[in-house]
Amino acid sequence: MKKISCFLFITILTIKGAISQNSRPDLFSSKKRNPKTSTYFRNASETTIDGRLNRNALPYFLNSIPSIQGNTSFLISLDQGKKTPYFIKRKPSEIKNTRKISLVSPELCKKEAANFLIEVTPVLKFHNNTNEFEILNNQEGDLRHIRFVQKIAGIPVLGCDGVIHLNEDGTHTFHGHIENVPANLNANPSVSADQVVETALNDLKKTVVVRTLTLEEKQILEYKGPEAKLVILPRSELIKVYEIAWEISIRPNLIDHYHFYVSAVTGKIIFKENHTCTAIHATGTAPDLNGINQTLTSYQKDGTYYLIDTSNPMFSAKSVLPEQPIGAIWTMTAGNTDLTNIAQITSSSASAWTPTAVSAHSNAKICYDYFKNTHNRNSLNGQGGNIISVINVTDGGKSMENAYWNGKLMAYGNGGSYFKPLAGALDVAAHEMTHGVIQNSCNLRYSGQSGAINESLADIFGALVDRDDWKIGESITKNLTLFPSGALRDLSNPHNGGSSKSDYCWQPQHMDEFVITSSDNGGVHINSGIPNRAFYLYATQVTKEKAEKVYYLAMTKYLFASSRFIDLRISVVSAAAELYGENSNEVAQAKSAFDQVGILEGQGTKVEDTLPENPGDEYLLVTKTIKDNYRLETIKTSTSVRTLITSTKVGRKPSISDNGRVMYFVTPEGAIKQIYTGSNDESIFDNSRKWNNVSVSKDGTKIAAVTDDEDSSIYVRKTTAESPWIRFILYNPTFTQDSIRSKGPKYADALEWDHPGESIMYDCYNVIKGDKDSIVFWDVNFIKVWDNAENDFSDGTVTKLYADLPQDISIGNPSFSKNSPHIVVYEIIDESVGYVDMISTNLETSEGSFILGGNNGMLCFPSYSKSDARIGFTTWAPSGQDTIFAYVNMDVDKITPKNGFYSSISGKYFNYYANGDRVLGNDPIKSLDYKIYPNPFDNNNITIDFNPIGATEIVLINSLGQNIYQENLNLNGFIHHHITLPELKAGTYIIKIISKDGIFTSKLIKL
Ligand SMILES: [Zn+2]
Repeated sequence: MKKISCFLFITILTIKGAISQNSRPDLFSSKKRNPKTSTYFRNASETTIDGRLNRNALPYFLNSIPSIQGNTSFLISLDQGKKTPYFIKRKPSEIKNTRKISLVSPELCKKEAANFLIEVTPVLKFHNNTNEFEILNNQEGDLRHIRFVQKIAGIPVLGCDGVIHLNEDGTHTFHGHIENVPANLNANPSVSADQVVETALNDLKKTVVVRTLTLEEKQILEYKGPEAKLVILPRSELIKVYEIAWEISIRPNLIDHYHFYVSAVTGKIIFKENHTCTAIHATGTAPDLNGINQTLTSYQKDGTYYLIDTSNPMFSAKSVLPEQPIGAIWTMTAGNTDLTNIAQITSSSASAWTPTAVSAHSNAKICYDYFKNTHNRNSLNGQGGNIISVINVTDGGKSMENAYWNGKLMAYGNGGSYFKPLAGALDVAAHEMTHGVIQNSCNLRYSGQSGAINESLADIFGALVDRDDWKIGESITKNLTLFPSGALRDLSNPHNGGSSKSDYCWQPQHMDEFVITSSDNGGVHINSGIPNRAFYLYATQVTKEKAEKVYYLAMTKYLFASSRFIDLRISVVSAAAELYGENSNEVAQAKSAFDQVGILEGQGTKVEDTLPENPGDEYLLVTKTIKDNYRLETIKTSTSVRTLITSTKVGRKPSISDNGRVMYFVTPEGAIKQIYTGSNDESIFDNSRKWNNVSVSKDGTKIAAVTDDEDSSIYVRKTTAESPWIRFILYNPTFTQDSIRSKGPKYADALEWDHPGESIMYDCYNVIKGDKDSIVFWDVNFIKVWDNAENDFSDGTVTKLYADLPQDISIGNPSFSKNSPHIVVYEIIDESVGYVDMISTNLETSEGSFILGGNNGMLCFPSYSKSDARIGFTTWAPSGQDTIFAYVNMDVDKITPKNGFYSSISGKYFNYYANGDRVLGNDPIKSLDYKIYPNPFDNNNITIDFNPIGATEIVLINSLGQNIYQENLNLNGFIHHHITLPELKAGTYIIKIISKDGIFTSKLIKL
């Protein structure tokens, strides 16, 4: 054992300097796969599990980044993901009579706006105290809307401006876009304006005619010559690394008008925009599927029209048209495939489109406009993301009787015997797109009660966008035997023409009718009838205009991932109180609406607890992969003592069990190696195929691995000798009642087991193939591969971490926190500039933070420390030569970074782990408080202590799957329930408790 003093944390972590635009790093070079189809998988005896085929899918485990936070004096809305406020309103309760002002002169109004900006500045939580605002002159005659721009040291921050709306009662609002620019920004240019104008002109000469304009031409254009001014700008939309740059306005000829952004530090061009001809949009009129003429906006290039609407404020000039629009409403066709060949829809005229294309394109625009105009939401993801619709989508090659949102795009089938082409229904489109909004706000899990709220909100906003009735799908429903009302669902009358739950059209409208089922993700499309009717009752009392404001606020601010019906009630009542006051009629009517459907006042659901910390010592596993110096060693963090584990070549980041006793890794040759850390016993665990990556479950009993091929599967086996591999098929989940096959995943890469050892979190490379360009991205998903209660492999259900990532944004290398199963950290990569950042997110509350300011093209492989007080990661050494270990100290919430440090420890991968044993917890999704004892039992009596409300069913199942005992109860709260079972053979049994709260299973052993 060698003792080396290390952990010299010397340098405060700073954001690395700019990287060259020309040397865009190949971030995922280690993640590339062999595109040939592997021959390993021809083996017919291999067990394959395809979760798509499983209709009783288990919970969606979704998440997104934060939206809104509370404050005592102000109502504050935050930008998604950035945690910067874009909307701040003084609460009416904060207004004192003396605050009332008279808005009579421009000077008074500007002064009032300036004072209000000073008041809200603490709320903006700037990291940098050199931030300032400049109030602009009032627009002529407009006294109440005062524009401002954000500046740092007198230099405007590009795109950061807004309006203060003044009210005589003092309820002013701040509405704008600001950026939290780090304090270490260097505001002094090292390159002069003349130099950058020269750079821009030289660049222009490569592609356009550059000539000196005549005096007359200059007068016509009102142009004096190239102008350069300093601005501060982020290197990309999402990853905020700021620098000072020159913005140059330049007209090289009579037609073109360029804006260049050139780094004032390096003198290199950051980006340029031609303000002429960036997007020629055309409008045309054509009939939709309902025979109604719709006006639509398309994009025209060289005489060809594309169904790309570039006319909305979210449109980004960085788009490459028509191949890569950003911030566009974009409609394409799958050409009657299962999304395997997406192509542009083109026309030689702005008005010649098929009715299906017209419907899809105009639906998307109407939905965009609704969320923008009514709720000030910038597209579905809140960040100006494309809204992509794809028509002519099939399901398994057959006409699809459905429409779905798959997290990235809206897919429409052409119907059949039940439905007309689904693009014909605006409410169906709005329903599906609202799933996109939900995924990016409260992110309700798609099962049980939270799933039913998810469905209900989709229906509610569907009915608000298509506002003329309370029905969903009335314009596409064909089959009047199944749907006698002529609609799929009806918010005003959830029974919808049916008489009982066996009717396909029927939904419950009161908690008395709540349906307990394990199909349809626990009845998400069934029990949504109850909250649907509550909304109908509310909106008819207070008006749709007020109800939609309340529900939008509840959705984006109050609801959380595992919310149940009671939480919906609490959220709606709280949102109404926030908007209209505690004692308002709007609050009273909300209570009354929920009372009427039997969702009564009560306690909300509590957010999950954390696990006990690992009681052992903390270590850092260091992997070095430098040529001729392959090493795997551990460092005890309290003493800095280093221990060599092996000098075997390590190909990828190792995976260690929670007690640190066993680790696995893949060698560069593709074998899985196993090492027991106590004895350093090292052996080949599996080399039956060429592996790329491996992960051991936290309890050490199971292994998940991916091969080196372009293979959309994850392989799982027990670590016991001779256990077979089970192959799980990856897919993109959708929000539909039936199992739709949404294609996309090419292969998984990084893998990590969840704490209970049931699901694997993985990152995945997706390609949705187009005729020219494809939609390509990495995202993070969960696949359920094991069921602890059944002690067997599970159904392979896939759920997503994020939906609708912005253009060019990929996420990967996810890792759980050590003690809070609902907190994860992962990398976020802006592929357009090569910046890597980390985000930590609380899956339950949808809160998250950026952790780094840009890892300069270096993947960081984050890992939480034993107590979760730190996140360790890989970064460049200050010398820029080697890669080293660094860490960020985290706040108690485990998601907010405090400060970061470099170490002198070099290596490629760093895993924190500890060597103690602990209970790893149950599946957090199944967390009903219940106790069954004795277990094992030897006579025929068992007792269950539990706390359900309402109809509850207890079922005992033997190893053959037969029901051997069943009992139905109607419960009113906590009981000790004694059961005398029939005479049973010794062996393992499964007990199921089925209640409104979900389905809970446990293993029982008879001795
Ligand atoms: Zn739905």
